Amino acid sequence: MSLIVQKYGGSSVADIRKLRLVAARVARTRSTGASVVVVVSAMGNTTNELLALARQVTETPGRRELDMLISVGERVSMTLLAMALADLGVPARSFTGSQSGIVTDEHHANARVVEVRPERVREALNCGEVAIIAGFQGVSRQREVTTLGRGGSDTTAVVLAAALGADECEICSDVDGIWSADPRTVPGARRIERLTVDEALALAQNGAKVLYEEAVAWAQREGVVIRASQTDQPPGGGTVIAPASHDGGASQSRIVAVTADTQLARCGMEHLDALPGACIRFADASGVVVDLRNLHAPLSFLAPAASVAVVGSRVGCDPALLKRIFAAARAAGLENDVAFPWHAAADAVVFFVDPTRAAALERSLHAALVSEARLS
Ligand code: ASP
Ligand code: MG
Repeated sequence: MSLIVQKYGGSSVADIRKLRLVAARVARTRSTGASVVVVVSAMGNTTNELLALARQVTETPGRRELDMLISVGERVSMTLLAMALADLGVPARSFTGSQSGIVTDEHHANARVVEVRPERVREALNCGEVAIIAGFQGVSRQREVTTLGRGGSDTTAVVLAAALGADECEICSDVDGIWSADPRTVPGARRIERLTVDEALALAQNGAKVLYEEAVAWAQREGVVIRASQTDQPPGGGTVIAPASHDGGASQSRIVAVTADTQLARCGMEHLDALPGACIRFADASGVVVDLRNLHAPLSFLAPAASVAVVGSRVGCDPALLKRIFAAARAAGLENDVAFPWHAAADAVVFFVDPTRAAALERSLHAALVSEARLS
């Protein structure tokens, strides 16, 4: 019998009407004979609202209490979804992250999953129930409730899919899969049918908002097949993200997408000594997790910067593709820009530019490199 993990994001469960639509979609999946595990995010804007409540009490809420507070959002969704399924005649049982055996390290607000022991989830499945899991949370070895970082419900879904040996981990949101660029910026963007997990990771690392980076990294390590799909479309569509070897063939080098990250900060050599201190002060004051690879933080002494990345299997190691990419970048006017460097990784070539130029560069590179290509 097949086992599917489905994750529904906050906008998919934003109100009771939507929650009932999710319940119906889960029931339909189960009626095909599959066992179903469902991971839910907090309803709509709940997590932000809970954080705002804490800020009304104190400017400096403790991280442990914050985790206790914001883990509640997902617990609300899980219980309501279990009730909505029962209402449809589908037996369902809800579990917190801790009850699902998601063990993390001690880092409140940004915990890493270290082990998954989903015994109770398995028990529920063996009883023929749908298991509903509160996303975004786990329990540390000191038995403290932890959360996995903003957007971390994707991670919950992927780690459970890996631990349970699921056939597929479907991540459902309000967009129908992964696109070759952000369609709001790039009019010619279109949906990609299949991505390798390496390409998806390069996208997540370079600013694409579709999937949470840690979730993709876990899928890469554990060989989990992810399907990114739209909640109000029937299961089976969207974008499939699988290891390159999944179809039996070795993947060819190719360009699949262009993505931008406009929330970077550039710092000069003279700032490096001051950087750790500034990051710690900023993190303490804001509760934002500062990622030193990509400073998503308006630190005042750092200049805003953006990156535009060309992503695809082995783009960074294929001289013919590199030649095309640099020709396109030159045609887009990048050649005189000594202040902004570029770097190549295996699956991405990244240009750093002033944020005001990012959208135009994204459009030109997409038009020159992706628009004519067949994406499948
Ligand atoms: N509710 C959490 C957040 O808003 C986790 C998630 O949605 O994945 O970040
Ligand atoms: Mg998300």
